[in-house]
Amino acid sequence: MNIIIFGPPGAGKGTQAERLQDEYKIKQLSTGDMLRAEVASESTLGKTLKATMDAGELVPDETIIELIGNCISEPECERGFILDGFPRTVPQAKALDEMLKHMARRIEHVIVLEVDNDILIERIKTRAAETGGARSDDNEEVLRNRLEVYEAQTAPVLPYYKDHNVLRKIDGMKPIDEVTAQIEAIFANF
Ligand code: AMP
Repeated sequence: MNIIIFGPPGAGKGTQAERLQDEYKIKQLSTGDMLRAEVASESTLGKTLKATMDAGELVPDETIIELIGNCISEPECERGFILDGFPRTVPQAKALDEMLKHMARRIEHVIVLEVDNDILIERIKTRAAETGGARSDDNEEVLRNRLEVYEAQTAPVLPYYKDHNVLRKIDGMKPIDEVTAQIEAIFANF
């Protein structure tokens, strides 16, 4: 099973993706985590990425498409994968489809976690406080930009998947267990 977990920053994508990885033994692929590891390695690429990520902007499509292309062909993705933070633009979504077509695979579900903006801002503030500001883009000002980037560049991916009949919207404001239960119900019913 290959799925995308979709939603604005702070919607709970990572939390749910981790749970699904454990339960269904499908690989979580978080582009944000991969990019943060690249930044932490202080490679040349990492240094270029840092400024973009700190500003809450998107890194170039070509960089991220190459990164994901390398991952989904790995043996650990054979049983399936959960894309967390990808695709974030329509060109990324189209590139993903091309890659999957060559592998004779497809995306079965795009799970959209819907959360109001005021709740997202509160969640990010809590995450920043709990992690001691571990993520340099977890502050209110950058978050507001990340939300704008989401609306302008990422939300337009949704009609693309709606046309493919794989869009499943769920209420991401419910408690974590209830959100997981909603996702499990989707897997059981489709
Ligand atoms: P995330 O942890 O998913 O919120 O991602 C953190 C940051 O990494 C984002 O604000 C972007 O700068 C970058 N990023 C992650 N995934 C992507 C993607 N698919 N396309 C472009 N930039 C990305």
